[in-house]
Amino acid sequence: MSNRKEEYLTFLKELIALPSVSAKHEKLPETAALLGQALEKLGGQVEIDDSYFAPLVIAHFNSNQAGAKNLIIYNHYDVQPAEPFNLWDQDPWTLTEKDGHLIGRGVDDDKGNITARFTALAEYLDENDGQLPVNITFLIEGSEETASQHLDDYLAKHPELKADLIIWESGNKDDQGQIELGGGNKGIVTFDVTAKTAGIDLHSSLATVVDSAAWRLSQGLATLFDPKTGRIQVPNFYEDVIAPNQREKDLVAALPGTKEEFIKGHQITAPLLTDKRGDDWKEALYFEPSINIEGISSGYEDQGVKTVLPAEATAKLEARLVPGMGPDKTLKQIQDYLADQGFSDLTVTKTLGQPGYRSDMSDPEIKKVIDLAKDFYPGEPVVSPTSPGTGPMAYVNNAIKAPIISLGVGYQGALDHAPNENIRLTDYEDNIKFVKLIIGSYANH
Ligand SMILES: [Zn+2]
Repeated sequence: MSNRKEEYLTFLKELIALPSVSAKHEKLPETAALLGQALEKLGGQVEIDDSYFAPLVIAHFNSNQAGAKNLIIYNHYDVQPAEPFNLWDQDPWTLTEKDGHLIGRGVDDDKGNITARFTALAEYLDENDGQLPVNITFLIEGSEETASQHLDDYLAKHPELKADLIIWESGNKDDQGQIELGGGNKGIVTFDVTAKTAGIDLHSSLATVVDSAAWRLSQGLATLFDPKTGRIQVPNFYEDVIAPNQREKDLVAALPGTKEEFIKGHQITAPLLTDKRGDDWKEALYFEPSINIEGISSGYEDQGVKTVLPAEATAKLEARLVPGMGPDKTLKQIQDYLADQGFSDLTVTKTLGQPGYRSDMSDPEIKKVIDLAKDFYPGEPVVSPTSPGTGPMAYVNNAIKAPIISLGVGYQGALDHAPNENIRLTDYEDNIKFVKLIIGSYANH
Protein backbone atom coordinates (compact mmCIF):
# COMPACT_ATOMS: atom_id res chain seq x y z
CA MET A 1 0.00 0.00 0.00
CA SER A 2 1.37 3.41 -0.92
CA ASN A 3 2.19 5.87 1.84
CA ARG A 4 -0.49 8.16 0.52
CA LYS A 5 -3.13 5.43 0.72
CA GLU A 6 -2.21 4.79 4.33
CA GLU A 7 -2.05 8.48 5.13
CA TYR A 8 -5.56 9.08 3.84
CA LEU A 9 -6.99 5.91 5.36
CA THR A 10 -5.80 7.28 8.71
CA PHE A 11 -7.50 10.54 7.77
CA LEU A 12 -10.68 8.61 6.85
CA LYS A 13 -10.64 7.15 10.35
CA GLU A 14 -10.52 10.69 11.80
CA LEU A 15 -13.34 11.83 9.50
CA ILE A 16 -15.57 8.91 10.46
CA ALA A 17 -14.90 9.50 14.14
CA LEU A 18 -16.70 12.86 13.74
CA PRO A 19 -20.46 12.15 13.69
CA SER A 20 -21.25 14.93 11.22
CA VAL A 21 -25.00 14.33 11.08
CA SER A 22 -26.55 17.28 9.23
CA ALA A 23 -30.08 16.37 10.40
CA LYS A 24 -28.92 17.08 13.98
CA HIS A 25 -26.49 19.92 13.07
CA GLU A 26 -23.76 17.88 14.76
CA LYS A 27 -19.97 18.33 14.28
CA LEU A 28 -20.37 20.17 10.97
CA PRO A 29 -17.89 23.06 11.51
CA GLU A 30 -15.43 20.60 13.11
CA THR A 31 -15.55 18.30 10.08
CA ALA A 32 -15.23 21.22 7.65
CA ALA A 33 -12.17 22.44 9.56
CA LEU A 34 -10.54 19.00 9.50
CA LEU A 35 -11.06 18.81 5.72
CA GLY A 36 -9.69 22.33 5.33
CA GLN A 37 -6.49 21.35 7.16
CA ALA A 38 -6.01 18.24 5.01
CA LEU A 39 -6.57 20.19 1.79
CA GLU A 40 -4.14 22.89 2.86
CA LYS A 41 -1.52 20.26 3.68
CA LEU A 42 -2.03 18.88 0.18
CA GLY A 43 -1.22 22.34 -1.22
CA GLY A 44 -4.67 23.73 -1.93
CA GLN A 45 -5.89 27.29 -1.51
CA VAL A 46 -8.61 26.65 0.99
CA GLU A 47 -11.65 28.71 1.82
CA ILE A 48 -14.20 27.70 4.43
CA ASP A 49 -17.40 29.68 3.99
CA ASP A 50 -19.45 29.42 7.16
CA SER A 51 -22.30 31.74 6.18
CA TYR A 52 -24.84 29.01 7.03
CA PHE A 53 -25.02 26.16 9.56
CA ALA A 54 -23.02 23.69 7.46
CA PRO A 55 -19.80 25.37 6.27
CA LEU A 56 -18.87 24.95 2.61
CA VAL A 57 -15.28 23.85 1.96
CA ILE A 58 -13.68 25.09 -1.27
CA ALA A 59 -10.09 24.21 -2.22
CA HIS A 60 -8.32 25.20 -5.43
CA PHE A 61 -5.36 23.32 -6.89
CA ASN A 62 -4.07 25.22 -9.89
CA SER A 63 -2.25 24.00 -12.95
CA ASN A 64 0.65 26.10 -14.19
CA GLN A 65 -0.28 25.27 -17.79
CA ALA A 66 -1.77 28.12 -19.79
CA GLY A 67 -5.33 27.40 -20.87
CA ALA A 68 -5.70 24.43 -18.52
CA LYS A 69 -9.23 23.13 -18.17
CA ASN A 70 -11.18 23.23 -14.94
CA LEU A 71 -12.41 20.20 -13.03
CA ILE A 72 -14.71 20.53 -10.03
CA ILE A 73 -14.96 17.61 -7.63
CA TYR A 74 -18.15 17.71 -5.58
CA ASN A 75 -18.52 15.83 -2.29
CA HIS A 76 -20.30 16.16 1.05
CA TYR A 77 -18.97 15.60 4.54
CA ASP A 78 -22.29 15.21 6.33
CA VAL A 79 -23.79 11.79 6.97
CA GLN A 80 -27.10 10.17 7.84
CA PRO A 81 -27.82 9.39 11.51
CA ALA A 82 -26.39 6.00 12.58
CA GLU A 83 -29.46 4.95 14.60
CA PRO A 84 -30.51 2.24 15.37
CA PHE A 85 -27.08 1.55 16.89
CA ASN A 86 -27.96 -2.00 17.97
CA LEU A 87 -28.22 -3.08 14.31
CA TRP A 88 -24.53 -2.30 13.73
CA ASP A 89 -21.99 -5.09 14.19
CA GLN A 90 -19.52 -2.49 15.56
CA ASP A 91 -19.38 1.16 16.55
CA PRO A 92 -20.53 3.21 13.49
CA TRP A 93 -18.07 6.02 14.33
CA THR A 94 -15.00 3.77 14.40
CA LEU A 95 -13.66 2.89 10.96
CA THR A 96 -13.26 -0.88 11.01
CA GLU A 97 -11.46 -3.09 8.50
CA LYS A 98 -12.85 -6.61 8.18
CA ASP A 99 -12.49 -9.23 5.42
CA GLY A 100 -11.41 -6.68 2.81
CA HIS A 101 -14.19 -4.25 3.73
CA LEU A 102 -14.10 -0.87 5.44
CA ILE A 103 -17.11 -0.32 7.70
CA GLY A 104 -18.45 2.86 9.32
CA ARG A 105 -21.12 5.52 8.95
CA GLY A 106 -20.26 7.60 5.89
CA VAL A 107 -17.57 5.28 4.53
CA ASP A 108 -19.39 5.14 1.17
CA ASP A 109 -21.66 8.15 1.54
CA ASP A 110 -19.49 10.12 1.25
CA LYS A 111 -16.28 10.23 3.29
CA GLY A 112 -14.52 7.28 1.60
CA ASN A 113 -15.09 8.98 -1.75
CA ILE A 114 -13.49 12.13 -0.35
CA THR A 115 -10.35 10.34 0.86
CA ALA A 116 -10.06 8.25 -2.33
CA ARG A 117 -10.02 11.49 -4.31
CA PHE A 118 -7.51 13.13 -1.95
CA THR A 119 -5.29 10.04 -2.34
CA ALA A 120 -5.54 10.18 -6.14
CA LEU A 121 -4.61 13.85 -6.21
CA ALA A 122 -1.75 13.38 -3.70
CA GLU A 123 -0.31 10.44 -5.64
CA TYR A 124 -0.64 12.33 -8.92
CA LEU A 125 1.21 15.33 -7.48
CA ASP A 126 3.91 13.04 -6.00
CA GLU A 127 4.44 11.34 -9.35
CA ASN A 128 4.47 14.56 -11.41
CA ASP A 129 6.72 16.99 -9.50
CA GLY A 130 3.73 18.68 -7.95
CA GLN A 131 2.36 19.77 -11.35
CA LEU A 132 -1.24 19.38 -12.51
CA PRO A 133 -2.49 19.37 -16.14
CA VAL A 134 -5.92 20.64 -15.04
CA ASN A 135 -7.18 23.11 -12.44
CA ILE A 136 -8.96 21.14 -9.73
CA THR A 137 -11.44 22.59 -7.27
CA PHE A 138 -12.89 20.56 -4.42
CA LEU A 139 -16.38 21.65 -3.43
CA ILE A 140 -17.42 19.88 -0.24
CA GLU A 141 -20.74 20.74 1.34
CA GLY A 142 -22.16 19.71 4.71
CA SER A 143 -25.91 19.47 4.21
CA GLU A 144 -26.39 17.00 1.36
CA GLU A 145 -28.34 14.57 3.53
CA THR A 146 -30.84 17.31 4.39
CA ALA A 147 -31.63 18.38 0.81
CA SER A 148 -28.50 20.58 0.51
CA GLN A 149 -30.03 23.47 2.42
CA HIS A 150 -28.30 26.74 1.41
CA LEU A 151 -26.11 25.12 -1.25
CA ASP A 152 -27.77 27.39 -3.82
CA ASP A 153 -27.12 30.42 -1.55
CA TYR A 154 -23.49 29.42 -1.13
CA LEU A 155 -23.03 28.92 -4.87
CA ALA A 156 -24.53 32.34 -5.57
CA LYS A 157 -21.79 33.78 -3.33
CA HIS A 158 -19.05 32.06 -5.33
CA PRO A 159 -19.39 33.07 -8.99
CA GLU A 160 -15.64 32.37 -9.38
CA LEU A 161 -16.39 28.63 -9.47
CA LYS A 162 -16.18 27.38 -13.03
CA ALA A 163 -15.69 24.00 -14.63
CA ASP A 164 -15.54 22.06 -17.87
CA LEU A 165 -16.62 18.95 -15.97
CA ILE A 166 -17.98 18.22 -12.52
CA ILE A 167 -17.25 14.87 -10.91
CA TRP A 168 -20.10 13.98 -8.57
CA GLU A 169 -19.85 12.58 -5.06
CA SER A 170 -20.26 8.83 -5.44
CA GLY A 171 -21.06 5.78 -7.50
CA ASN A 172 -21.21 2.00 -7.37
CA LYS A 173 -20.20 -1.17 -9.03
CA ASP A 174 -23.37 -3.09 -9.89
CA ASP A 175 -24.11 -6.64 -8.75
CA GLN A 176 -22.26 -7.97 -11.81
CA GLY A 177 -19.17 -5.99 -10.77
CA GLN A 178 -19.50 -3.40 -13.55
CA ILE A 179 -18.72 0.21 -12.78
CA GLU A 180 -21.74 2.54 -12.97
CA LEU A 181 -21.43 6.07 -14.35
CA GLY A 182 -24.41 8.35 -13.84
CA GLY A 183 -25.41 11.78 -15.03
CA GLY A 184 -28.44 12.94 -13.11
CA ASN A 185 -30.75 12.66 -10.17
CA LYS A 186 -34.37 13.31 -9.33
CA GLY A 187 -35.55 16.26 -7.31
CA ILE A 188 -37.86 16.11 -4.33
CA VAL A 189 -40.32 18.08 -2.27
CA THR A 190 -41.20 16.72 1.16
CA PHE A 191 -44.18 17.95 3.18
CA ASP A 192 -46.46 17.23 6.10
CA VAL A 193 -50.25 17.17 5.79
CA THR A 194 -52.19 17.64 9.02
CA ALA A 195 -55.88 17.38 9.85
CA LYS A 196 -57.36 18.77 13.06
CA THR A 197 -61.00 18.30 13.98
CA ALA A 198 -61.16 19.06 17.73
CA GLY A 199 -59.10 20.54 20.55
CA ILE A 200 -58.81 17.16 22.29
CA ASP A 201 -59.21 13.46 21.43
CA LEU A 202 -62.86 12.48 21.98
CA HIS A 203 -64.86 9.42 23.02
CA SER A 204 -65.56 7.49 19.83
CA SER A 205 -69.28 7.26 20.64
CA LEU A 206 -69.35 10.81 19.25
CA ALA A 207 -68.41 9.55 15.76
CA THR A 208 -72.05 9.63 14.61
CA VAL A 209 -71.86 13.40 14.97
CA VAL A 210 -68.22 14.46 14.94
CA ASP A 211 -65.83 14.06 12.00
CA SER A 212 -62.45 12.58 12.88
CA ALA A 213 -59.05 13.90 11.88
CA ALA A 214 -58.03 10.41 10.74
CA TRP A 215 -60.93 10.28 8.25
CA ARG A 216 -60.31 13.82 7.01
CA LEU A 217 -56.65 13.11 6.39
CA SER A 218 -57.14 9.77 4.67
CA GLN A 219 -59.99 11.10 2.53
CA GLY A 220 -57.89 14.08 1.51
CA LEU A 221 -54.83 11.99 0.68
CA ALA A 222 -56.97 9.55 -1.30
CA THR A 223 -57.93 12.31 -3.76
CA LEU A 224 -54.30 12.65 -4.88
CA PHE A 225 -54.08 9.26 -6.51
CA ASP A 226 -56.33 7.19 -8.77
CA PRO A 227 -56.05 3.55 -7.68
CA LYS A 228 -57.65 2.31 -10.93
CA THR A 229 -55.23 3.95 -13.34
CA GLY A 230 -52.22 4.18 -11.00
CA ARG A 231 -51.81 7.85 -11.91
CA ILE A 232 -51.52 10.99 -9.80
CA GLN A 233 -54.71 13.03 -10.14
CA VAL A 234 -53.30 16.47 -9.30
CA PRO A 235 -54.04 18.61 -12.38
CA ASN A 236 -50.95 19.60 -14.37
CA PHE A 237 -48.71 17.49 -12.10
CA TYR A 238 -46.99 16.06 -15.18
CA GLU A 239 -47.12 19.23 -17.34
CA ASP A 240 -43.51 20.42 -16.77
CA VAL A 241 -41.88 17.00 -17.04
CA ILE A 242 -39.04 17.08 -19.57
CA ALA A 243 -39.45 13.83 -21.46
CA PRO A 244 -36.28 11.81 -22.01
CA ASN A 245 -34.78 11.85 -25.48
CA GLN A 246 -34.18 8.66 -27.46
CA ARG A 247 -30.55 8.34 -26.33
CA GLU A 248 -31.59 8.62 -22.68
CA LYS A 249 -34.32 6.04 -23.21
CA ASP A 250 -31.85 3.71 -24.91
CA LEU A 251 -29.34 4.07 -22.05
CA VAL A 252 -32.01 3.21 -19.49
CA ALA A 253 -33.34 0.31 -21.56
CA ALA A 254 -29.78 -1.07 -21.68
CA LEU A 255 -29.36 -0.95 -17.87
CA PRO A 256 -29.09 -4.44 -16.39
CA GLY A 257 -32.01 -6.05 -14.56
CA THR A 258 -35.36 -7.51 -15.64
CA LYS A 259 -38.81 -6.76 -14.24
CA GLU A 260 -38.86 -10.19 -12.59
CA GLU A 261 -35.51 -9.50 -10.87
CA PHE A 262 -36.77 -6.10 -9.76
CA ILE A 263 -39.89 -7.64 -8.19
CA LYS A 264 -37.94 -10.44 -6.54
CA GLY A 265 -35.08 -8.22 -5.38
CA HIS A 266 -37.47 -5.85 -3.61
CA GLN A 267 -39.79 -8.62 -2.36
CA ILE A 268 -42.73 -6.80 -3.98
CA THR A 269 -46.10 -8.47 -3.46
CA ALA A 270 -48.47 -5.82 -4.89
CA PRO A 271 -49.13 -5.39 -8.63
CA LEU A 272 -46.76 -2.85 -10.23
CA LEU A 273 -48.31 0.55 -10.88
CA THR A 274 -46.64 0.57 -14.28
CA ASP A 275 -48.59 -2.58 -15.21
CA LYS A 276 -51.83 -0.75 -14.36
CA ARG A 277 -50.77 2.19 -16.48
CA GLY A 278 -49.30 0.08 -19.26
CA ASP A 279 -45.94 1.88 -18.90
CA ASP A 280 -42.42 0.53 -19.05
CA TRP A 281 -41.27 0.00 -15.43
CA LYS A 282 -37.67 0.99 -16.06
CA GLU A 283 -38.54 4.19 -17.90
CA ALA A 284 -40.97 5.15 -15.14
CA LEU A 285 -38.39 4.46 -12.43
CA TYR A 286 -35.88 6.82 -14.01
CA PHE A 287 -37.98 9.43 -15.80
CA GLU A 288 -41.34 9.83 -14.03
CA PRO A 289 -42.35 11.77 -10.91
CA SER A 290 -44.21 10.23 -7.99
CA ILE A 291 -46.09 11.10 -4.82
CA ASN A 292 -45.42 8.82 -1.87
CA ILE A 293 -46.85 8.68 1.64
CA GLU A 294 -43.84 8.12 3.91
CA GLY A 295 -45.91 7.63 7.05
CA ILE A 296 -49.28 8.33 8.65
CA SER A 297 -49.98 8.74 12.33
CA SER A 298 -53.15 9.39 14.25
CA GLY A 299 -55.09 8.19 17.28
CA TYR A 300 -54.32 5.01 19.13
CA GLU A 301 -51.51 2.91 17.61
CA ASP A 302 -50.63 0.67 20.55
CA GLN A 303 -51.78 -2.85 21.53
CA GLY A 304 -55.42 -3.85 21.93
CA VAL A 305 -58.41 -1.53 21.61
CA LYS A 306 -58.99 2.08 22.49
CA THR A 307 -62.30 3.58 21.43
CA VAL A 308 -61.07 7.03 20.63
CA LEU A 309 -61.93 9.65 18.01
CA PRO A 310 -58.61 11.29 17.11
CA ALA A 311 -58.49 15.07 17.11
CA GLU A 312 -55.38 15.20 14.97
CA ALA A 313 -53.82 13.22 12.14
CA THR A 314 -50.55 13.82 10.31
CA ALA A 315 -48.96 12.30 7.27
CA LYS A 316 -45.47 12.76 5.89
CA LEU A 317 -45.36 12.83 2.11
CA GLU A 318 -42.85 13.35 -0.65
CA ALA A 319 -43.06 14.03 -4.35
CA ARG A 320 -40.05 12.87 -6.35
CA LEU A 321 -39.52 15.33 -9.16
CA VAL A 322 -37.93 15.00 -12.56
CA PRO A 323 -36.15 17.78 -14.51
CA GLY A 324 -38.55 20.57 -15.47
CA MET A 325 -40.58 20.37 -12.25
CA GLY A 326 -40.09 22.82 -9.39
CA PRO A 327 -40.52 21.80 -5.73
CA ASP A 328 -42.60 24.86 -4.79
CA LYS A 329 -44.79 24.79 -7.89
CA THR A 330 -45.50 21.09 -7.42
CA LEU A 331 -46.38 21.58 -3.76
CA LYS A 332 -48.72 24.45 -4.65
CA GLN A 333 -50.47 22.25 -7.24
CA ILE A 334 -51.01 19.61 -4.57
CA GLN A 335 -52.22 22.15 -2.02
CA ASP A 336 -54.60 23.82 -4.50
CA TYR A 337 -56.00 20.47 -5.57
CA LEU A 338 -56.69 19.42 -1.96
CA ALA A 339 -58.53 22.71 -1.41
CA ASP A 340 -60.40 22.22 -4.67
CA GLN A 341 -61.56 18.79 -3.57
CA GLY A 342 -63.00 20.25 -0.35
CA PHE A 343 -60.00 19.75 1.93
CA SER A 344 -58.91 23.33 2.56
CA ASP A 345 -58.95 22.46 6.29
CA LEU A 346 -55.87 20.26 5.81
CA THR A 347 -52.62 22.06 6.62
CA VAL A 348 -49.80 21.48 4.14
CA THR A 349 -46.29 22.32 5.39
CA LYS A 350 -43.19 22.05 3.23
CA THR A 351 -40.20 20.43 4.93
CA LEU A 352 -37.51 20.15 2.19
CA GLY A 353 -37.21 20.62 -1.54
CA GLN A 354 -34.80 20.56 -4.45
CA PRO A 355 -35.16 20.25 -8.24
CA GLY A 356 -33.91 17.36 -10.41
CA TYR A 357 -31.28 17.35 -13.15
CA ARG A 358 -30.00 15.22 -16.06
CA SER A 359 -26.64 15.57 -17.82
CA ASP A 360 -26.24 15.29 -21.56
CA MET A 361 -24.40 11.96 -21.57
CA SER A 362 -23.11 12.61 -25.09
CA ASP A 363 -21.17 15.70 -23.94
CA PRO A 364 -17.50 15.26 -24.99
CA GLU A 365 -16.19 15.76 -21.42
CA ILE A 366 -18.50 13.02 -20.16
CA LYS A 367 -17.75 10.76 -23.12
CA LYS A 368 -14.06 11.05 -22.29
CA VAL A 369 -14.64 9.72 -18.76
CA ILE A 370 -16.82 6.90 -20.09
CA ASP A 371 -14.04 5.94 -22.54
CA LEU A 372 -11.46 6.00 -19.74
CA ALA A 373 -13.72 3.71 -17.69
CA LYS A 374 -14.01 1.34 -20.68
CA ASP A 375 -10.23 1.10 -20.83
CA PHE A 376 -9.61 0.87 -17.10
CA TYR A 377 -12.38 -1.38 -15.76
CA PRO A 378 -12.98 -4.88 -17.09
CA GLY A 379 -16.25 -5.26 -19.02
CA GLU A 380 -18.59 -2.50 -20.16
CA PRO A 381 -19.36 0.38 -17.80
CA VAL A 382 -23.05 0.81 -16.99
CA VAL A 383 -24.02 4.31 -18.13
CA SER A 384 -27.21 5.76 -16.70
CA PRO A 385 -28.47 9.25 -17.60
CA THR A 386 -30.03 9.61 -14.16
CA SER A 387 -30.53 7.95 -10.82
CA PRO A 388 -34.00 7.38 -9.33
CA GLY A 389 -32.59 8.94 -6.13
CA THR A 390 -32.28 12.58 -5.19
CA GLY A 391 -29.37 15.01 -4.94
CA PRO A 392 -28.40 18.63 -5.51
CA MET A 393 -27.05 18.33 -9.07
CA ALA A 394 -29.52 20.94 -10.33
CA TYR A 395 -28.19 23.62 -7.94
CA VAL A 396 -24.62 22.90 -8.92
CA ASN A 397 -25.40 22.81 -12.63
CA ASN A 398 -27.48 26.02 -12.47
CA ALA A 399 -24.57 27.83 -10.85
CA ILE A 400 -21.62 26.29 -12.66
CA LYS A 401 -23.11 25.23 -16.02
CA ALA A 402 -20.95 22.20 -16.62
CA PRO A 403 -21.79 18.57 -17.35
CA ILE A 404 -21.87 16.29 -14.30
CA ILE A 405 -20.83 12.66 -14.06
CA SER A 406 -20.92 10.52 -10.94
CA LEU A 407 -18.50 7.75 -10.07
CA GLY A 408 -17.25 6.33 -6.81
CA VAL A 409 -16.02 3.68 -4.43
CA GLY A 410 -19.31 1.90 -3.68
CA TYR A 411 -20.89 -1.41 -4.59
CA GLN A 412 -24.36 -2.96 -4.40
CA GLY A 413 -23.92 -4.06 -0.79
CA ALA A 414 -22.65 -0.70 0.51
CA LEU A 415 -25.75 -0.14 2.71
CA ASP A 416 -25.73 3.66 2.43
CA HIS A 417 -27.96 5.27 5.09
CA ALA A 418 -28.37 1.84 6.78
CA PRO A 419 -26.51 -0.02 9.56
CA ASN A 420 -23.13 -1.57 8.62
CA GLU A 421 -22.44 0.87 5.77
CA ASN A 422 -19.33 -0.46 4.06
CA ILE A 423 -17.12 -0.47 0.98
CA ARG A 424 -14.70 -3.02 -0.44
CA LEU A 425 -11.03 -2.08 -0.28
CA THR A 426 -10.47 -3.31 -3.84
CA ASP A 427 -13.16 -0.92 -5.16
CA TYR A 428 -11.60 1.88 -3.13
CA GLU A 429 -8.18 1.20 -4.62
CA ASP A 430 -9.59 0.92 -8.17
CA ASN A 431 -11.33 4.25 -7.69
CA ILE A 432 -8.09 5.96 -6.63
CA LYS A 433 -6.40 4.70 -9.81
CA PHE A 434 -9.37 5.72 -11.95
CA VAL A 435 -9.53 9.26 -10.55
CA LYS A 436 -5.78 9.56 -11.10
CA LEU A 437 -6.32 8.48 -14.72
CA ILE A 438 -8.97 11.18 -15.15
CA ILE A 439 -6.59 13.83 -13.80
CA GLY A 440 -3.79 12.52 -16.05
CA SER A 441 -6.05 12.48 -19.12
CA TYR A 442 -5.90 16.28 -19.24
CA ALA A 443 -2.16 16.11 -19.89
CA ASN A 444 -2.83 14.90 -23.42
CA HIS A 445 -4.93 17.90 -24.39
ZN1 LIG B 1 -24.09 11.11 -0.64
